[in-house]
Amino acid sequence: GEPTPAISDAHKGPTGVLEIPQRFLMGPGPANADPRILAAQSLPLLGHMHPPFLKIMDEVQQGLRYLFQSDTKYTLCASGTGHAGMEMAIANLLEPGEKIVVGNNGIWGTRVCDMADRFGAEVVNLQTAAGTSFSLAELTAALEQHKPAVLFLCQGESSTGVHQSLAGVGEACAKNGTLLLVDTVCSLGGVPMYADAWGVDAIYSGSQKCLSAPPGAAPLMLNDKALQKIKSRKTKVRSYYLDLNLVGDYWGWFGSRSYHHTGMVSMWYAMREALAIVSEEGLEAGWVRHEQAHKALWAGLSEMGLHPFVADPKDRLVTVNTIKVPEGVDWAAVCKNAMDKFSVEIAGGLGPTAGQIWRVGLMGYNAKPANVELVLAAFKDGLTQQGFLKA
Ligand code: PMP
Repeated sequence: GEPTPAISDAHKGPTGVLEIPQRFLMGPGPANADPRILAAQSLPLLGHMHPPFLKIMDEVQQGLRYLFQSDTKYTLCASGTGHAGMEMAIANLLEPGEKIVVGNNGIWGTRVCDMADRFGAEVVNLQTAAGTSFSLAELTAALEQHKPAVLFLCQGESSTGVHQSLAGVGEACAKNGTLLLVDTVCSLGGVPMYADAWGVDAIYSGSQKCLSAPPGAAPLMLNDKALQKIKSRKTKVRSYYLDLNLVGDYWGWFGSRSYHHTGMVSMWYAMREALAIVSEEGLEAGWVRHEQAHKALWAGLSEMGLHPFVADPKDRLVTVNTIKVPEGVDWAAVCKNAMDKFSVEIAGGLGPTAGQIWRVGLMGYNAKPANVELVLAAFKDGLTQQGFLKA
């Protein structure tokens, strides 16, 4: 028979109850989860096809319609983080050889270029400087020149702190037979989104930012036009796990329900609760709360002599704030001091902004005055240590 050697303890797993320090996650995400959402995740599991669980999935889909401001039937959560939503959108909306114009003004556009290339699309990289957004004129010119199947834009570029306006873009896309795909991972719930009114055809997002849930769910929506595109594909979606023909059927998009993969039971509880919190507060009140936190942060930072990385005030994202590191200041030392002394996470730059900026997230549960005050206190202390502020 099979040999049965002595069990090796060389790689024995951890023992004892897990303990986690309380930290204030004020970087670009994840943000702190609302305790009500964490509590929902500790409820007993249901089977992933049990009727009471399917009802929770229905509630998630309905809550997403409110969040996206869309009457579409086609909402769901991809099982995974924001990247799963990104890859799902790209894998389904593009067939090999089709064109995508990628508005690239930071790390997310760069990654979408890479992903679309992997799925065999023809990628047009529409690059603009980090810290700026695209004008409608630039986008319209690219649409008319390339007539792409898809235009990608990132509403909230978290590597640069830029907010991309969508005004007029949906209309320009429709005129050119292009589907508009928008990344809202760090903006959905924090800034206005009116998918139907703005003509946005497809959106993906993430759970761990303005929705105050842990990472692990990627809200996604398609309108009828985007769904039609997927239904009329000539080639199979090249990812089984992310094929919306199959995942959509689990979420009831096509009238029945079939098992595709095991729904992320506790994570969908979290999303149900997150969306209940959004509905109870009301979208507009949530947007105003995020805006106020952003204003309060900048009132304090300006007083310390700090400046925004994004030059044009209308391009500034309220949910992820980017702050120029002044000459002679060690940005990493300020981050370390904030963590060591205040348990506050302040992030440095990423991609095109590495070493040049700090990033402060004011998202979801964290977009409130007490958290703003804490971040300001951490900056004041760090900048004093650095000799930038007088003691
Ligand atoms: N897009 C944007 C704008 C993001 O900020 C992020 C996360 N930082 C992502 C996509 C990717 O999401 P995730 O890390 O959850 O996969």
